[in-house]
Amino acid sequence: MARYVYFFGGGRADGHKDMKDILGGKGAGLAEMTNASLPVPPGFTISTVACNLYVERGGSLPQEVEKEIDIALERLESLMGKALGAPADPLLVSVRSGAKFSMPGMMDTILNLGLNDRSVEGLKAKTGNGRFAKDSYRRFIQMYGNVVLGLDKDHFEHELSAVKKKARAKADVDLNEAALDEVITRYKALVERETGKPFPQEPRAQLQGARDAVFKSWMNPRAVTYRKLNDIPHDLGTAVNVQTMVFGNMGDTSATGVGFTRNPSTGAKEFYGEFLQNAQGEDVVAGIRTPHPIADLERLMPEAYRQLREITTRLERHYKDVQDFEFTIQEGRLYMLQTRNGKRTGMAAVNIAVDLVEEGILAPREALMKVEPQALDQLLHPVFEPRARAAAKVVAKGLPASPGAASGAVVFTADDAVARARQGQRVLLVRMETVPDDIHGMSVAQGILTATGGMTSHAAVVGRQMGKPSVVGCGALEIDAKGRRLSVAGKLVREGDSLSIDGATGEVMLGLVPTSPSEVLQVVDGRLKPEQSALYRKFARLLAWTDDVRRLGIRANADIPRDAKIAFAFGARGIGLCRTEHMFFAEERLPHVVTMIRSAARGQRGLDLTRALRARLAEAQGGEARRLRAELKAAQAQYGPAMADYTGALKKLLPMQRADFSGLFREMKGHPVTIRTLDPPLHEFLPKREELIGDIARLSGMGTAEKKAVAKKYRLTVAQLKRGLPELLREVEELHEFNPMLGHRGCRLGITYPEITRMQARAIFEAALQVSRQGTPVKPEVMIPLVGHVEEFKRQKQIVLDVAHEVLGESGSGVEYLVGTMIEVPRGALTADEIAREAQFFSFGTNDLTQMGFGLSRDDAGKFLNHYIDHGLIDRDPFVTLDASGVGQLVEIGVQKGRAAKPELKIGVCGEHGGDPASIRFFHGAGLDYVSCSPYRVPIARLAAAQAQLERPSGD
Ligand code: PEP
Ligand code: MG
Repeated sequence: MARYVYFFGGGRADGHKDMKDILGGKGAGLAEMTNASLPVPPGFTISTVACNLYVERGGSLPQEVEKEIDIALERLESLMGKALGAPADPLLVSVRSGAKFSMPGMMDTILNLGLNDRSVEGLKAKTGNGRFAKDSYRRFIQMYGNVVLGLDKDHFEHELSAVKKKARAKADVDLNEAALDEVITRYKALVERETGKPFPQEPRAQLQGARDAVFKSWMNPRAVTYRKLNDIPHDLGTAVNVQTMVFGNMGDTSATGVGFTRNPSTGAKEFYGEFLQNAQGEDVVAGIRTPHPIADLERLMPEAYRQLREITTRLERHYKDVQDFEFTIQEGRLYMLQTRNGKRTGMAAVNIAVDLVEEGILAPREALMKVEPQALDQLLHPVFEPRARAAAKVVAKGLPASPGAASGAVVFTADDAVARARQGQRVLLVRMETVPDDIHGMSVAQGILTATGGMTSHAAVVGRQMGKPSVVGCGALEIDAKGRRLSVAGKLVREGDSLSIDGATGEVMLGLVPTSPSEVLQVVDGRLKPEQSALYRKFARLLAWTDDVRRLGIRANADIPRDAKIAFAFGARGIGLCRTEHMFFAEERLPHVVTMIRSAARGQRGLDLTRALRARLAEAQGGEARRLRAELKAAQAQYGPAMADYTGALKKLLPMQRADFSGLFREMKGHPVTIRTLDPPLHEFLPKREELIGDIARLSGMGTAEKKAVAKKYRLTVAQLKRGLPELLREVEELHEFNPMLGHRGCRLGITYPEITRMQARAIFEAALQVSRQGTPVKPEVMIPLVGHVEEFKRQKQIVLDVAHEVLGESGSGVEYLVGTMIEVPRGALTADEIAREAQFFSFGTNDLTQMGFGLSRDDAGKFLNHYIDHGLIDRDPFVTLDASGVGQLVEIGVQKGRAAKPELKIGVCGEHGGDPASIRFFHGAGLDYVSCSPYRVPIARLAAAQAQLERPSGD
């Protein structure tokens, strides 16, 4: 039979600590403490199941639940030897909500229930303390009036202030009994005036009203919003705890307080908390009076303090975690009102987890479960000074793309960012959206703020990869980049003015909010020694435990040696994705890249044609040979310049790429390095079409200075402008695509311009050979992007194998390499068996797989996804957390078909999801071998992978 009410008291409880689903966190804690014979005032918990019934039935409870409540109340009355609200000696109770997850400040509490005009006199007579009795009654009317009857708190404050003024009392505690009588009279009049009914006097009716108000508060707008923000399901419901009152407001030997067994902000092992003498529950948090630090309690009430320390230390050992507790001291006697695992910052979480292991309370495996993986992020980024942060004015909110605190002078172009940074200024780069061309500005900026784009936009991906605080898609910004200003929330911000961003929340603040650097990062990048940072040592220790547990390997997405070095220092063992195109944007390379692109179509055609003609010529004789020679000459005349440009540019790029790859191999010290061939559509490297059209239209009217500037922009001379710009426009238009994400990109580039793949493969193998000859082992993995058909892969693979053979020779020169593919096109996943017969590894590109599998444009979805999330259509941005039930099926099919065809197939993921804890749990379950993520997420991934294994061990 279903049960709805759980009793606790008299040394025994019906529930226990593992019943949070039914009893809520508070109810489970009270039950557990009762069972442990701690001093807990008795009471009962009405379960979350009853709450859900109440909501479902539109505001009533079935008779059987009402009956159980009556029985529990009778039991409580008989245990306490008093009846609820009885005139001579009333039983008084508190009524408090308590959901499974704590929702601080979101729901309501009512104290002193059972008081009325008669029982207040009984309480006075029984305690001999009229002031206390009246103070309790006026508080009850105030709380009940607000929570149950829906009256504004300010009305009550107004009446209270009036009486305080009249009595010349500074604080509430200065009011004497007579003054409190007047407060009660005024409060009752207020209730009657506002509700048209007298204040309810009947104790059972009071209880029912309070209980219903708590149930209703589950659905109040602020509670609903809080749950949305914190990913708490709406159908959990709240429990209601009805508990015998104990009083902290019975004079100076009474008190009430809250505390933590350790400092929740730093994790330091210190008793932490606050209390107020002669006060009741809400006074401590309400900020009406300044509470005392808990250390003072030792002096004021030594025996209660000693007992509190002893009990909370026991509770910490019992729960094996920091406890956040509430207590009341009634005339020197201590009562525990709540205990639960305390919320904490990332820094505190790491310190506490490691300390609890050192103190023998936790095993390392248990400690790993005590830290939220995402919380590690807080340790890696600069942090705002807390006071300044609280005082800062938030003017807008975008997507929290890359966490951390950043503040600086606003700049609107990457070049300006660099110029100001050179002068030693801290800058914040603000753009409509960033493009690969902005990379130099992004790398010197403290943070990045964009008006458009989603969680996998360029700014977001690169921001995370660089570990740079970034807020993207902040639609409230009206940016006038030309005018070098923006307006937001009615404020004008010019270049050089300061803004601050919080990459963890997406908030944008006016002015320079001061920050301090991350200690952990300072050790990782060599500015501090590990011995100088206790926090770093604990961080490293915790992460070392993850390595003993997790099954998933952890690699990093890194394109340049500096990032690879950081990734290695954070514990990545391998690179899962090097996006080679990111190397193409360096100042000295771009001209060659542009030449390569501009000449690629004609250059490749020329090469293909002349090669074919030469091959036929080698076999031909007589007239046929003469004809072919003439054709060859004509082809050379037609395509010669383009071929020269194309092969010339590739020759220039080859050594540069080789040097990049050597650097990556060295930093990874023999661990695998996955290098992907060119992926993005080529027009990304060329000027914007609309801008070119505008410049051509304005050219004739330009003065010399402007012409010079335009010529510089397009890397032309002023004399070349007139012919050069239309020519450039023609080429840009040739490359223009309506849907570039589904267009000429990925392996499709390498298929049409195989010379590019050939150059890249050569750079990879030459670098591998060089580094291995110098004594560092290498493991190159060449990865072909955007494969949707096995033939695409086969042809690209053949090029790679041919080049490997050319460079490494028959013997392979001791370089072990693999050739594999990304699985990021749905057709690739669906035909994974065919592809696996050819490929040595798969790496899921879940960014593109989400784009194509869910049909959501990576560049445009930001505009409406928030609406979807706000309106509950989906829980999370599928570009952040893998859409397990949809896109996840493509991953599962890919794994299953791939392994069916080739059991030893190595499988990883390198989309942004590789650094997201929930997605990592999914990849663990799907049987992947590794995840790859941006360097700064490596610690998160290590911990998430370990937790995934602890939660769901996979036998291997
Ligand atoms: C992907 O699509 O998941 C991926 C890693 O490639 P990119 O983000 O470079 O398209
Ligand atoms: Mg991709």
